[in-house]
Amino acid sequence: MDVDLLKKLVSVDTSGGRNREKAVEIIVKASRERGLEAEVVVDKKGIPNVLVYGRGSGKRVLFVTHYDVVPPGEGWTKDPFNPVLVDGKLYGRGAADDKGAIVAVLEGISKVEGNVEPVLVVAGAEETGESGDFMRSLEGDLAVIVDSGPTPTVGASGVLKWTVIVKGKQAHSAYPFLGENALYGASKVVSFVEEFGRFAEKFLRSKYRGAEHYERLPVRASATVLHAGSAWNIIPSSATVEISIRTVPGWNNDVVEPLFLDLLDEFARGNGIEYELRKDIDMGTWVSGGKEVERFLEVYREVTGIHVEPAVELGGTDGVHFADRMPVVQFGPLRPENNVHGPDEFVYLKDLELVERVVERFVEEGL
Ligand SMILES: [Zn+2]
Repeated sequence: MDVDLLKKLVSVDTSGGRNREKAVEIIVKASRERGLEAEVVVDKKGIPNVLVYGRGSGKRVLFVTHYDVVPPGEGWTKDPFNPVLVDGKLYGRGAADDKGAIVAVLEGISKVEGNVEPVLVVAGAEETGESGDFMRSLEGDLAVIVDSGPTPTVGASGVLKWTVIVKGKQAHSAYPFLGENALYGASKVVSFVEEFGRFAEKFLRSKYRGAEHYERLPVRASATVLHAGSAWNIIPSSATVEISIRTVPGWNNDVVEPLFLDLLDEFARGNGIEYELRKDIDMGTWVSGGKEVERFLEVYREVTGIHVEPAVELGGTDGVHFADRMPVVQFGPLRPENNVHGPDEFVYLKDLELVERVVERFVEEGL
């Protein structure tokens, strides 16, 4: 594992579109030093991305990473852009998400002559969602999204997100009988969502293991934002509740949406709640399989000695940009305890070494 290269990459602040050229230059130089061909692809938005071609021929395997990071935010006890190594952990913004993955894959593919054609994909604006078009432009026979945890996953949850606007009637709070308090209606909607969430976790389960926590990954529902009221002495005339539902294979958006909305409507009518509904996000789940994915899981088992059943991510991933054209598997050095997107982000060097070994072995053995 080239810790110096990783430190160099982490020291470049690539949050919010900063220093793209500098990061790209480091990646291209490190690739060429390893005798690999590297190409900078500037996308339609003017964002530079890098493709590094490993040695080998056969089916094309894309290892997908990104060099941009989220801003450091508050609460760091270390300098986010002056990486330090403590007890096998490298601290710094992007050490785990996703610069560690770039270096691990680069090391892995540069050590072997492959029985596949390995390509390291380094996107430039993943965190802001701007790299989707670039990713959708790539072709291959398997995509490995190296932007997740050390247990391989083969799918991701979907998202349904609504804003419920509860209607009431404004009045002076000294005369509540003249108004209708939208906040009370909204709080009932919040309780309804909580109930639905409990029901979903129990009964709307997929056949897949969750990447974390769940034996069988269920649909999850939460009320996440509540807006209401303008002053202490005014009965509010409207209140909004934002609702986030995570869907799973077998209980995808087209099944969960009518179920939830029918129940919500029945609940609202039964409680005399008047409301409007706005749908903000509708992104379906996906799950991958086939012999390429199986092969990857086999290599993972060979290297680690751990037998894994295919699991599905609790959130969404960039796999969605590939899953319509090729099989997808997700595997990387990001653990929940790594404080990815939080203060004092770090990565375990042993996780990076594992990624490197699995990538190396997979490229060597081929599909
Ligand atoms: Zn990431």
